[in-house]
Amino acid sequence: MQPMGNEKPGNVPGRPLSPFLAGSQAVPPFTSSGPVVGAGASGYLRATAPFSSAPQATTPFSSAPQATTPFSSAPQATTPFLSSQPMTGTQTFGYRAPAPPSMRSSGPAIQSPPLSYLPHDATASQQTQAPRFPPPAQPPTPLHSPPVGPSAVYAGGSFRPQSQMPTVPMGPPPQNSAQLASRSNMPPLPDSSSFMPRPPPQPSYSNFVSGGNVPPSLAEPLFPGSKPVSQPSPQTTSYVPSLQASSYHAHQGGVVPPPPPIGTPAGFSLREQMQFPNLGPAAGGHLQSLVEEFQSLSVGSAPGSLDPGVNLESLPRPLNGDEEPSKVLDSYPLNCHPRFLRLTTHAVPSSQSLLARWHLPLGAIVHPLAEVPEGEEVQIVNFGSAGVIRCRRCRTYINPYVTFTDAGRKWRCNLCSLLNDVPGDYFCALDATGRRCDIAQRPELSKGSVEFVAPTEYMVRPPMPPSYFFLIDVSVAAVRCGLLEITAKTIKSCLDELPGFPRTQIGFLTFDSALHFHNLKSSLSQPQMMVVADLDDVFLPLPDDLLVNLADSRHVVEAFLDSLPSMFQGNANVESAFGPALNAAFMVMSRLGGKLLIFQSTLPSLGIGRLRLRGDDLRAYGTDKEHTLRIPDDPFYKQMAAEFTKSQIAVDIFAFSEKYSDIASLGSLAKYTGGQVYHYPSFQAITHGDKYRYELARDLTREIAWEAVMRVRCGKGVRFTTYHGHFMLRSTDLLALPAVDSDKAFGMQLSLEDTLMTTQTVYFQVALLYTSSSGERRIRVHTAAAPVVADLGEIYRQADTGAIISLLSRLAVENTLSNKLEDARQLVQLKLVKSLKEYRNLYVVQHRLGGRLIFPESLKFLPLYVLCLCKSLALRGGYADAPLDERCAAGYGMMILPIRRMLRLLYPGLYRLDEVLTKGADNFDESLKQLALTAQCLDARGLYIYDDGFTTTIWLGRMLSPDIVNSIFGDNLSSFPDLSRVQLPELDNEVSRKLMRVLKFLRENDPSVYQLCRIVRQGEQPREGSLLLSNLIEDQTAGTSSYIDWILQIYRQSQG
Ligand SMILES: [Zn+2]
Repeated sequence: MQPMGNEKPGNVPGRPLSPFLAGSQAVPPFTSSGPVVGAGASGYLRATAPFSSAPQATTPFSSAPQATTPFSSAPQATTPFLSSQPMTGTQTFGYRAPAPPSMRSSGPAIQSPPLSYLPHDATASQQTQAPRFPPPAQPPTPLHSPPVGPSAVYAGGSFRPQSQMPTVPMGPPPQNSAQLASRSNMPPLPDSSSFMPRPPPQPSYSNFVSGGNVPPSLAEPLFPGSKPVSQPSPQTTSYVPSLQASSYHAHQGGVVPPPPPIGTPAGFSLREQMQFPNLGPAAGGHLQSLVEEFQSLSVGSAPGSLDPGVNLESLPRPLNGDEEPSKVLDSYPLNCHPRFLRLTTHAVPSSQSLLARWHLPLGAIVHPLAEVPEGEEVQIVNFGSAGVIRCRRCRTYINPYVTFTDAGRKWRCNLCSLLNDVPGDYFCALDATGRRCDIAQRPELSKGSVEFVAPTEYMVRPPMPPSYFFLIDVSVAAVRCGLLEITAKTIKSCLDELPGFPRTQIGFLTFDSALHFHNLKSSLSQPQMMVVADLDDVFLPLPDDLLVNLADSRHVVEAFLDSLPSMFQGNANVESAFGPALNAAFMVMSRLGGKLLIFQSTLPSLGIGRLRLRGDDLRAYGTDKEHTLRIPDDPFYKQMAAEFTKSQIAVDIFAFSEKYSDIASLGSLAKYTGGQVYHYPSFQAITHGDKYRYELARDLTREIAWEAVMRVRCGKGVRFTTYHGHFMLRSTDLLALPAVDSDKAFGMQLSLEDTLMTTQTVYFQVALLYTSSSGERRIRVHTAAAPVVADLGEIYRQADTGAIISLLSRLAVENTLSNKLEDARQLVQLKLVKSLKEYRNLYVVQHRLGGRLIFPESLKFLPLYVLCLCKSLALRGGYADAPLDERCAAGYGMMILPIRRMLRLLYPGLYRLDEVLTKGADNFDESLKQLALTAQCLDARGLYIYDDGFTTTIWLGRMLSPDIVNSIFGDNLSSFPDLSRVQLPELDNEVSRKLMRVLKFLRENDPSVYQLCRIVRQGEQPREGSLLLSNLIEDQTAGTSSYIDWILQIYRQSQG
């Protein structure tokens, strides 16, 4: 039996001429009431399939540093700029990040101030520095290569070694760096002879198919290279906005007016700008168009000087959060909404040499199941007997960018240009402009996003019923913190809302030093527990009834959940037979697949998969062993993950330990199965209860796409070569996702296959094939087009900072799995500097912009976001700056974040509330003004709230009005010696009610998590430091730069 998940080719021309039944249904996705497929009760399950893991072959941060470009820039007319503003840059708040509660000592030896990243003694005429960065040849990380050594085979519940499948090297081809000739005043033309682009070596992909799950046809390359490809017909252009059209440029600049220069640097005036109109890329010499070309910040001090010359106020800040590039839809109205797919730049470079000068990652963030506003649901199309219409050659799904010819009898594929026959059932006449007359009735021809009902040929087995299996640690640690009670009650409260009624399956396995199976047979009145203590040869004590139909066994399930907390009330067992329990869960679930939810409160200590208390190790930091702390300690976990994915099982981990519990190892189960890691360090029911309840309930009740695979096809000349997120690669470009939902996004990097792109437009198509909870096979398809350009400036202008930083964050987190934290941070910084330097070189000389940091409007927040990334929990500092488990959990979390949540996490919101609470209106959208993330914004008379999307912190100023305090707490603060245990009550007064409404408002911004609200008083150390001050990323904290210092560093490094 093969698992599902195959986009099975078929549908060659000549299908039967049955009446076309189709039509489109305006049914919201995820709520269909499709055919109910009966769920066979599971038989006695002992998985015997030979184990052959499908190792994921993503690459670590794989772009090679560019070779030094030996151009010598013209001397800059840098003029000292003496700001009349207060010298805010040297302000120090006097705060040093406190050691975390673990009382680690923070030693200077393990932190290097970012100032040392790159030399900053740049002078105006210096040569480009060779990047001080480790050579590109990084050793492969164990996470990214298949487990070394014997893997295991399930046979009768025990493991046997078996030989390993070969790995597939993945990753973009090494970029060839263009050797720049010495620079003249003119920006070099990308196709000028000074560039000597060489085609990069193509990565060698073998047709790697894991475990025999994928029909050979799926491993075929998208475009069998030997076939001649005909040129696109002229008709193609009628659906594609013209590249030359001014409308494309219309939204450049002017959207956000550039901030006025602070002060006027001597020697730089508007008049001088006007003197060189013809040299600027803005033809016509219009001042406005010049302003639209770039933004800049005055940096008045001489390079190398310590005097800050940047005005704090003038620094760009993303105070409105993510700005979706919805303007793309103005130029490409047939594209899917950017919430589903965002390119890092909506202008694809036309050549390898041009790409080499972009320096930032070229790629996309794909969020296939992003939640949509009401009324914009993705429409469902059922082709009925005509079958899903796809290109015969490249398997692209029919979409709004295909063109019809031959009086409607043929259609041309927009990805590979092949002329396909229109099936008889699908025929429609064309109007005078060559469009089909029925286009308005056909979402697949008029909408960028659509969902097809997949016929049986897209199934290898009948769609399985949704199933939920719970693996619950009941050792003393779990009992003591109140976890069992909350878990049982929350699951019980969600039973009515579990997706898939009436087919939903459910089961439980509890464990400490032994495994406890629970018979939930519907004929029982109470569940029966069977204990298996033999951990070496795990077997199922019962062939059936460990995973049961929820509707049939509802009363037994409820009885089990009611008794669960008391069942283990006095349990003093400290051991955890986690690995054997995982084996047992696999045996129960392997036939149906589904979701495995793991609740783990301690370090696995018994049987296979037991983990060492390796903990964090100060001595490893700064050495080439550092990264090993952040990767799984035992290949068992990745092998199990591979086995789970093969059986369509997704794993979510809820981890609660107050001690080290090796999140690095446990999390890999979620990473390779499309799952998620929830971490509640030092869980206490009283403080974390609400958050945990909410997040568990969301996990259980959110809609799921089951048994899914995703592939992103691209037009000629480009292809996605690396993927970053939680999934397992089933072939070079097929992502296996046993379960996926609206909270998961994926990053991917794009490579140019040809030296020179010959098309004007490149197309992308995301296809997610999945089983809905109702048991219907569906294909969700998002299609987008982007222009191919030969102008480097345009590539920068069309950059999407949100997509860039989301992709950079994923690359940086992956990089920490094979390198030092310091190296991962440096690499991101280097990319930023190179891109700004490249951009600067386009414009600086002809506009005499020495002394200014130049950047495109589109990237104005990127320097700040890169700083935020370097200061994020996953990447910051070293040993003393984040507990290892929390760092690893944060890393797993970042890998799946959609763009909006990533940006909120990187640059959280800070709002002053005292006036809003006492005077403001209820319209929080307007009354909540986001502030710069610096302690300078904190007024001792104020009340502030800080919100990073995961937690909120309320900060009470020392001189905050006692009336407000009383209104909120019902007492004065002296009655609360320990604010860490205080829960905000809702009191019967307007201030308290309004505060609750603010919290609700912030939480509703993001339904995927529950923001724990913590309260801290000004000066209450160390809590104030860890909860708020160390997160004010614009300030200098131990070993990190302030925003101003950062900008100065970037400015210095990007000169030359
Ligand atoms: Zn095609």
